[in-house]
Formats: sequence, C-alpha cells, structure tokens
Amino acid sequence: MVEVKGARKAFGDNEVLKGIDLTVGRGEIIAIIGPSGSGKSTLLRAINHLETLDGGEVWLDGVQVNQPLKGRAFERHINQVRQRMGMVFQHFNLFPHLTVVENIAMGPIVLKGTPKAEAREQALELLRKVGLADKIDAFPSKLSGGQKQRVAIARALAMQPMVMLFDEATSALDPELVDEVNLVMKQLAAEHMTMLIVTHEMRFAGEVADRVLFMDGGVVVEEGPPSEIFTAPKQDRTRGFLRKYL
Ligand code: ADP
Ligand code: MG
Repeated sequence: MVEVKGARKAFGDNEVLKGIDLTVGRGEIIAIIGPSGSGKSTLLRAINHLETLDGGEVWLDGVQVNQPLKGRAFERHINQVRQRMGMVFQHFNLFPHLTVVENIAMGPIVLKGTPKAEAREQALELLRKVGLADKIDAFPSKLSGGQKQRVAIARALAMQPMVMLFDEATSALDPELVDEVNLVMKQLAAEHMTMLIVTHEMRFAGEVADRVLFMDGGVVVEEGPPSEIFTAPKQDRTRGFLRKYL
C-alpha cells in the first residue's frame, strides 16, 4: 500500500533521513518510535509530500507520490494523492471558524463534489463512529483536546483514505484524554485500516501495531513485531531508548 525506497532528506547540512526503506502492506499497522529529532515527522511528511525528498521514492498503491512532474501537472497529481492519505497531527489543525460538521464535510464537498446534504449525512455517520454525534454543530473552541482530535480523525476519514498517518496524535493531550483518542485508532485497526502511527506511547504501540520501527539519527535501526522489539530488542540503541520507557 505504501512503499518508501531510499528516502533521503537534509535541512542544510543536517541529514535527517539517511536512506529509509519501508513497505506497508494493505491493512498493516506500523508504529514508528524513536527519540525526538530522529526524523519520524519528516518521514511521515515526506510520504504525504509535505516535505520534498532529496532522493528516493514514495509510492501509494502503485502510484509514485513524488513523481517528476512540474507545475500544475504536479499540483493536480499531488492533490489526487493527498485525497487518499489522511493525516492527523499533534495539534488538531481544525478550522476554528467552521463547526464540527463543516470541518468534516468541507473536504468531500470541495474536493470530491459531494452534495452538501450527503456530505452532512456522512459526517454524522463519522461523528457517531468517534462518539461525538452530539457535537455536530459545535465550534472547535467548545471542545476538549480529545474531542478535537477525534473530529480531526473523522475529518481525515471523510475523504475515505487508503492509509492514515498519525503524527503523535495524543502528545498534546492531557493524560486523561489520551485513551479516548487511542480507542478510535484501535477501532480503525480492527477495521483493517492501513496506518502509520508515530507515537511515544509504547504500551499503545504494543497493543495496536503489527510491526514496530525504531528510528534514530535518520535511519531505521531496528524493526519487528512488538513482541520482539519490546521484549528482546537486538540493538543497543533500541535497548537504550526503551529503557527510558520501562
Ligand atoms: P522527530 O519527529 O523524530 O522528532 P523531525 O523529523 O521532526 O524528528 O526532525 C528531524 C530533524 O530535522 C531535527 O533535527 C529537526 O530540527 C530537523 N527539521 C525538521 N523540520 C525542519 C525544517 N523544516 N527545517 C529545518 N530543520 C528541520
Ligand atoms: Mg515529530
């Protein structure tokens, strides 16, 4: 579903991605862990082409994301691709001047030409799924962080993405609000959504992921099923990192 081949990225002389390879199968759930500054966000952003790679390729379902097109042709292409990838950030990025339902329905209405009534109906369905049907006409400012993040997930799902990318979706939340967001992600996992999840929550990663990638210094140091990475890591760097969480 997602393939990254030899991804390289530098900011000035800071080499942030030093040749990352990653293959994500349909319905697979990958947790990406690693210290701050190891390149996790840059990798997710590169998959979505929010960062342009210096080298390497990103593929989504057989289509190259970073193809060598120029100008308007590339814009058309990338807008198509981005419709198929939902991204959820640490800070919810909801539109503050739009209600919850408007936030969710806007993408389908503007990008897909979905009729308004239908988009609203779909939005309501998604709000039920994330447990927020009663907030349909609320403004984001009236919601808790956990509720905002659940709306952000519903908004991403409204585009019927092939893959969902989560970048520390719960790091900005008060501890008591983390579970309600994790629960929605677990629900998606149970429905076999393909997901890439950057997280600092090792317990959650262990519960939800099929495979865990440990990144450090712009490389994937080690990867494997949670049962291996968390209980019998092979690399010293992985052990050193995990020690802080045990
Ligand atoms: P992580 O998400 O693992 O904490 P990031 O991918 O955010 O790591 O960052 C990796 C490195 O790239 C850090 O050293 C960070 O300072 C640098 N970096 C990230 N984005 C930019 C940018 N837009 N400009 C310059 N440096 C950046
Ligand atoms: Mg980050």
